[in-house]
Amino acid sequence: MASVDLKAVSEPQLEALLEAWGEPAYRARQILAWVHKRGVRSVDEMTNLSKTLRSRLSAEAQLSTLRIEKCEFAQDGTRKYAFKTGRGDVIESVFIPDASAPGRNSLCVSSQVGCAIDCQFCLTASLGLIRNLSAGEIVEQVIRVDEDLAAAGRPERVNNIVMMGMGEPLANYGALIPALRLINSEALGPGISTRRITVSTSGLAPKIPRLGQDVPVQLAISLNATTDDVRDRIMPINKTYPIEVLLEACRAFPLPSRRRITFEYVLLDGINDSDADARRLPKLLKGLRCKVNLIPFNEHPYVPFARPPISRVQRFQRKLMSAGLSAFVRTPRGEDISAACGQLGVEVDAPKRVLRVVG
Ligand code: SAH
Repeated sequence: MASVDLKAVSEPQLEALLEAWGEPAYRARQILAWVHKRGVRSVDEMTNLSKTLRSRLSAEAQLSTLRIEKCEFAQDGTRKYAFKTGRGDVIESVFIPDASAPGRNSLCVSSQVGCAIDCQFCLTASLGLIRNLSAGEIVEQVIRVDEDLAAAGRPERVNNIVMMGMGEPLANYGALIPALRLINSEALGPGISTRRITVSTSGLAPKIPRLGQDVPVQLAISLNATTDDVRDRIMPINKTYPIEVLLEACRAFPLPSRRRITFEYVLLDGINDSDADARRLPKLLKGLRCKVNLIPFNEHPYVPFARPPISRVQRFQRKLMSAGLSAFVRTPRGEDISAACGQLGVEVDAPKRVLRVVG
């Protein structure tokens, strides 16, 4: 008999299974809460279930959990966690206590092991796509980090989620949506408001309006260029969904009032940081309720791009602002432990890294 994965099963599926076993449907919610809210590691810990049900579940369902393989602490309070999944792969999550907004503790969550999108400046890309995470594996990153903070005697808990870790969230849509719903659920999961959940995408345009309809999360777009020519080169996904198609999808995103779309723009020296780029960007984004996060490129010996000088970053920001855009410079966090944007995924477990040639 095919065994059911408690980290991936949906509530209706679990209800159906339990009914077939002669159990009441409400047991499904009890089980899901044990898994995604309490983060139990075995069925035996589900103490409000009968012994009979527990032993049947132990025999016929699987529950594999994440194990902290390594946790690194940066000077600025950032913690980078490497988790080993039940299937033996490694994923990373980054806990970022926010200095500029005290009380906001973000977790940068992974959606896939590796990534298929192949952005030329991103280190995770060099892994390729290994596999999609299940909904439960996405949610569990939050639970395990909270658990670890508690064990360390820290008072803070994760209260802001950014889907900006390894992977392209919209390429794992089937697990992403249930994961976001669980993260948002008070009863079944960590209970974090959708206002405090941001999904960042490299630009899988057709999924963007749907995302907003399925779960009203904050949207972030990794734009990173102002011409298709440059974007084609640094983000090959642009050949499938060019800038205009992507922005059209953003316009179709159901944006709740008083919210804005975030456009992330990694500044790469001599590639996308010219005055002409700074002039084109406000024109492209005209009519969109949005802000721009400028991310000075985080350098890595394996990635052949450089960070522009700070004067250029500031000049770029000033130009956007004088054209009426809100533009922020994102201070890199956890750089000393390779936890900053685009640095996840290759340190642990003997890199399968191949040096890619950027054309
Ligand atoms: N795949 C999703 C989620 C990852 S978010 C996405 O692309 O949006 C990671 C963010 O970090 C993206 O905005 C990406 O453009 C940025 N990034 C990747 N590599 C980087 C690097 N080396 N330095 C700075 N930012 C980087």
